[in-house]
Amino acid sequence: MTETNNRQSFQIDGEGYYGNFGGAYVPEILYGAVQQLQDSYREIIESDEFQREYMELLRDYVGRPSPLYLARRLSKKYGCTIYLKREDLNHTGAHKINNTIGQILLAKKMGKKRIIAETGAGQHGVATATVCALMDMPCVVYQGALDVERQHTNVERMRMLGAEVRPVYTGNHTLKDAVNEAIRDWCCHPADTFYIIGSTVGPHPYPDMVARLQSVISKEIKEQLMEKTGRDYPDHLIACVGGGSNAAGTVYHYIDDERVNITLAEAGGHGADTDFTAATIHAGKLGIIHGSKTLVMQTPDGQIMEANTISAGLDYPGIGPMHANLAAQHRATVFSINDDEAIRGGYELTRLEGIIPAIESAHAIAVLEKMDFKPTDVVVLTVSGRGDKDVETYLDNKQMAGEYGNF
Ligand SMILES: *Cc1c(COP(=O)(O)O)cnc(C)c1O
Repeated sequence: MTETNNRQSFQIDGEGYYGNFGGAYVPEILYGAVQQLQDSYREIIESDEFQREYMELLRDYVGRPSPLYLARRLSKKYGCTIYLKREDLNHTGAHKINNTIGQILLAKKMGKKRIIAETGAGQHGVATATVCALMDMPCVVYQGALDVERQHTNVERMRMLGAEVRPVYTGNHTLKDAVNEAIRDWCCHPADTFYIIGSTVGPHPYPDMVARLQSVISKEIKEQLMEKTGRDYPDHLIACVGGGSNAAGTVYHYIDDERVNITLAEAGGHGADTDFTAATIHAGKLGIIHGSKTLVMQTPDGQIMEANTISAGLDYPGIGPMHANLAAQHRATVFSINDDEAIRGGYELTRLEGIIPAIESAHAIAVLEKMDFKPTDVVVLTVSGRGDKDVETYLDNKQMAGEYGNF
């Protein structure tokens, strides 16, 4: 990292690292495919033609810009001014589509003929199957056999969209096994296949590529804050983190602006010090996962552990290298939010603002009561997705919702 003015950037460096985290640890057979992507992604993404097509689809297909909504009752409760960035209003119900639209455009420009992806809960699988239908590209989605069973609706959605869902029967039949299988497929077809990764994880350049494709979130926040408050930056940004893509998009244009505090919410499950957790930043150790050097939840002998949380979209046993570095450098404050706190947060937003958030996003809401705000503080909190998919989970756990659960 070159330091010209003694201040380190929190963006990626020329070698594909964020501080000590990142890089590309892939099998030799993928070296060429990863190198090709590293060499071309920025030039393509930054080209006028790509930007024109990408922005047009974000506007007319996804429905961007997503609103920045002043949450008056939430603001009153926490004694500051809280804006919600409404990624829940996007087509397919979350921020993931911003990324899959971008990657499929990139795949086409690179002449790739076939798309593969892996999915846990199925949300990234659905976002990928959606853009494959849109672009008429064959799509194979790897999903752990246990997840195929547990997430039946999303499996049906992917199939309806024309994707082939391949259940994976190795390991624990869950997400990390699906990742291994997707990488194995990519190894067999490196020339014609594009692997769409769903978060700021994986070998370089994926974390940076996904962050750039999600950075439209903070680009819009800047413009919308300027219009609404006369100042283009908030005092606080808050987002939930699984792999880290909605958070990366939320902080992207503010990452080196020290006037802006960054707060991240990871999924504590039953508690960061229990076995039932997905709080990787709290509980993880340096390791390699998905081709990236980052914090990983692992057993004492280095095996990757299962991540556990009430929120299917946050149960990844790693974390994006950008976020591992933000935490290590104390640029971000990271809270571990337990299942019961997230449920309560979800009910709170539902009752105070009439917005049922995804259970993932509810982790970000739950951070509010752990923070101290000044009355003049402007807070932007990203609602990464909508909660239609989680209604059953909310109802099954309403005993965790405190006063909001009495119905
Ligand atoms: C997948 C998902 C997440 C977690 O992914 P990130 O890459 O960390 O953003 C968060 N919220 C919703 C609604 C999701 O679908």
